[in-house]
Amino acid sequence: MIPRAVSFRRLLLPALCYLAGSLPAAPTVDFLHLTDTHVTDLREVAEPIAKARVHFKDTGPALEKFLGGEVRALGVDLVLITGDLIDGFSFVAGDGRRVHGQIDAFLRATRPCPVPLFALLGNHDLSHYGVSAAGKPAADQSVAGEARAAWGAAVPSLRQGTYTAFTQQAGETKYHFVLLDNGYSAAGSDDKGGFRMAHEQLFWLRRQMETSGKAVKIVALHVPLGADANSQAIKAELARAPQVALVLAGHVHKDGIDDLALGESKRTVQVRTHAFGYGVNHWRRVRLHADRIEVFATGSRDRVERTIASGR
Ligand SMILES: [Zn+2]
Repeated sequence: MIPRAVSFRRLLLPALCYLAGSLPAAPTVDFLHLTDTHVTDLREVAEPIAKARVHFKDTGPALEKFLGGEVRALGVDLVLITGDLIDGFSFVAGDGRRVHGQIDAFLRATRPCPVPLFALLGNHDLSHYGVSAAGKPAADQSVAGEARAAWGAAVPSLRQGTYTAFTQQAGETKYHFVLLDNGYSAAGSDDKGGFRMAHEQLFWLRRQMETSGKAVKIVALHVPLGADANSQAIKAELARAPQVALVLAGHVHKDGIDDLALGESKRTVQVRTHAFGYGVNHWRRVRLHADRIEVFATGSRDRVERTIASGR
């Protein structure tokens, strides 16, 4: 007779693993797109900043409640948040010190999430807020390096870097998610250079497009693709892939679904979702099938707003 522990480890476990490996993938993958959660902890923050950003004071508890409650009821497989996770990486205090702890507030808010959570960074996640000589809040991204290191140490999906990729399987179709870090613009809205990505990230993106084979690409980024130079550089890399079915973006705090040209002959669909920081119904369901992607209306469990062919 084989002892029970030995029989489980030696015989039953390999058999279960074999069976699990040979099971067909689920026919669909459901996920939630959230963006611009702007989680904010204003304790100790200098008064001019705290006053100007007070509208975000309850965003952390609101996100915590949503992820711990409604997400489970929605029955999704994962959650994807496209940047401006927090309102600022650091703030100046009344006495001139720097106040940190915003990433901690984001971690508290996301802890109850019952499914894998993927996040990418927006402009606010790389920003420090000071107070100008005129007594007004003034943000810049001089702390971007420190902020990226802190995000990588804190959030599991950013551990390998602030631009990253993962795959999901819907029936026979593999979906390759590419998450970018495109919210850097140095001095913010005053910076004439606009948003910029290092060549390093663009080259990584090129390799992602070239090496992920027939997998259908889904690109998530913070700043939507437009006509600016950085968007053109990203689009040129995306045009190398056979199909980029979907681009998910935030930043502008508005819903929208737009057809977008990639290079001369390719097209994609860019979906923007309103800021969760401005309303707890600002979430969007996306369902991946083997042959199509269903994009639902913001805040709706069942109303499909756009269907995109994919995979075949
Ligand atoms: Zn933004």
